[in-house]
Amino acid sequence: MELGNLRKLLNSIGKNRSDFIKSPTSYLLSVSEYTAKLSPTLSALAARTAEKEKPSLAELDAVVHELAMFIASASANTKTAALLQASVATVKGIGGKTAEALEKAGITTMEDVLLHFPFRYEAIGYEGGEKGVLTGVLETHGPTFTRGKKRIYKAVFRSDAGFFSALWFNFSKSYPASGLSIGTKYHLYGNIGRMDGSYSMVHPEMISESDIGKIRAVYSLPTAVNHKTYASAVFRAVHDYLEYMPDTLPLRLADKYSYPDIRSAVKTLHYPDDISQLGKLQTRSHPAYERFVMEELFYLQLGLLLKKKTYQEVSGIAFDVKPEFLEEIASMMPFKLTSAQKRVLADIFNDMKRPKQMNRLVQGDVGSGKTIVCFTAAMVAVKNGCQAAIIAPTEVLAEQHFRSLLNFLDGTKYTAALLTGSTADKDKKASKELIREGQINFVVGTHALIQEDTEFAALGFVVIDEQHRFGVLQRKTLVEKGYTPDILLMTATPIPRTLSLTFYGDLDISVIDAMPPGRKPVITKAFPESSRQRIFDSVKKELEKGHKAYFIYPLIDVSDKLALKAATEGYEEIASHFGRDITGLLHGRMKAEEKREMMSAFKSGRLKVLVSTTVIEVGVDVADATVMVIENAERFGLSQLHQLRGRVGRGAEQSYCVLVYSKQISEDGKSRIKAMEQHADGFKLSEIDLELRGPGDFFGTRQSGLPQFRFSNIVKDVKILHRARAEAEELLEDDPELAKPVNKTVLEALKTRWKEGIDFLNIG
Ligand code: ADP
Ligand code: MG
Repeated sequence: MELGNLRKLLNSIGKNRSDFIKSPTSYLLSVSEYTAKLSPTLSALAARTAEKEKPSLAELDAVVHELAMFIASASANTKTAALLQASVATVKGIGGKTAEALEKAGITTMEDVLLHFPFRYEAIGYEGGEKGVLTGVLETHGPTFTRGKKRIYKAVFRSDAGFFSALWFNFSKSYPASGLSIGTKYHLYGNIGRMDGSYSMVHPEMISESDIGKIRAVYSLPTAVNHKTYASAVFRAVHDYLEYMPDTLPLRLADKYSYPDIRSAVKTLHYPDDISQLGKLQTRSHPAYERFVMEELFYLQLGLLLKKKTYQEVSGIAFDVKPEFLEEIASMMPFKLTSAQKRVLADIFNDMKRPKQMNRLVQGDVGSGKTIVCFTAAMVAVKNGCQAAIIAPTEVLAEQHFRSLLNFLDGTKYTAALLTGSTADKDKKASKELIREGQINFVVGTHALIQEDTEFAALGFVVIDEQHRFGVLQRKTLVEKGYTPDILLMTATPIPRTLSLTFYGDLDISVIDAMPPGRKPVITKAFPESSRQRIFDSVKKELEKGHKAYFIYPLIDVSDKLALKAATEGYEEIASHFGRDITGLLHGRMKAEEKREMMSAFKSGRLKVLVSTTVIEVGVDVADATVMVIENAERFGLSQLHQLRGRVGRGAEQSYCVLVYSKQISEDGKSRIKAMEQHADGFKLSEIDLELRGPGDFFGTRQSGLPQFRFSNIVKDVKILHRARAEAEELLEDDPELAKPVNKTVLEALKTRWKEGIDFLNIG
């Protein structure tokens, strides 16, 4: 009895939330009264809160939450969480195969059923779409034959507008016969077709008059699952389990943005009753749905911000950034830094000066000049007596960085070593010895460098190049080895701001947003394969000017034998056209030594044409290469195409990018190529990429260590994302460690959501 009252009270608080917030006293006193015997603690909490002149929303939240928890545990005499985890197979009619199919689709518990929202809604009515209702009185029914001599079951109905029929291709002795009686009025729901001049419906659904005008939820389900059966699971879930669902969206947010409480939200989404809201439901912009988006993004941002704060508190080296260092470094450069480069360096120096570990990501489009920025920062660290490590994703790139670094260090007393998988063991051993003794200032290498047993005398600065989020994982390895260097992540994959908030929300970000002076945009044009002769002619003209050209073949994965074959065959054709002596072939199967020779022959000018798989994708820098021909361009992703194009247009000469597409080009492939022809800006292209691919594929969320998105779409939900970020910031400003009792619920919910990723949080 008392429990029933408590339930009513909780529901009434949920329904009349603004009233509850405005004048909570009477509600609170009721809570206190009803729980006096059942739960003295809760009763006291409610009474205390009622006495306050103006209880905060968080305090009200705490009472509501405790109340919900109490009801749940009292009614089931078991834990809420456990109850919601009841298997979907406990629903009558859902057994063996259905349960299995549902499980494969990720629906195993009653909680899953509650949160598996319809993917669209139907308005059951006479008008609109091809689906509709036919109403009539049954005249005759029975098995018959089609003109094609196929046995079917047919029923004929009479309506005001004339006769219509219903047809069943699958029928039995009793179905549909036993459900039909002549002279009775029926409402048939389904796709309305025409047959012999009158309306007809195949396998109609018989609905009741009261269903007409209602909204029906349509779920995306595995084919093995019958929709009617599933509907009964939804019914059970909403009626018997929904009340145990904890509401973890802070009351403050729910109130501020007028989101319904979780119970009414879930109910609305499964059983909407307001037909005027149909549009909003379809587009998932109904507050009942957005509430879940907000909740998800709020906890995501809260987790990221806490993570960032944890990083920021790791003690690190306070570097001395002396003006004379900078003057000296500037004199080592063949050019003046752009103002964008200077601004980013200023951010980096600010971090370096602090006695905390730096975790900064530098984003800059291809060719924006990231290399010199990282060398400059690393040099400041070295001048402070530390060692700097530069980590590249591939050996080709590590070697290139090493060579640029040697150029940069030319004429100074500083030393550098290269450590990659193919460095000879003997040299490796010698280098490692020197690194351990502190005689080497700069170490360039691949990831193996920090994973292996390399020991540093004084590692103070680490640059991780082109590593998306993966770089963040390397931090752990470093910490485990006892190093706390400042970390600079570099990426040439420009990503839209919304995405950087989501994926790099735990890092500080600087963007090099302008190109060095004198760059001409690369002229980009697409051609079908049949224009090969024309392409060759244009390339020839460029070669005659003393320029160089790339021909790139797609390599989908390293073991892709077809790509290798294509590159090898392509090489034969291209070499016989331009001359074997000036044409080289580069692919992933070659030994590092061979690759190096090939690259340096191309760089030095002995080779003028380089045929390659995508091993050269990122970072390769050959300033007088002016033509980039990309074969089967439709097979590349947009960011990859942009990266490849970035290999030309690095000097003052006009450069060209030729996209060769095959006959089998898809619609998406066409869009990508068109985008490449129209846009030079990497940020713009990445936005288009995001639109084309959708957020799921854009980054491979799974690998990124972030919680999965269940409700939000980071493209569509930008506005909510920004709100969520601001709200999370505000909450942490007030309670940086989430240590206040009123934030207990939030902290618990955060931990549940970040399950695996939580270990980096120094909280709770
Ligand atoms: P990315 O950002 O793609 O790594 P790089 O650092 O390789 O770009 O720079 C691209 C080219 O621009 C290089 O040849 C580099 O020497 C040149 N460069 C970088 N900064 C400047 C500058 N401030 N002025 C002129 N040229 C520059
Ligand atoms: Mg680079």
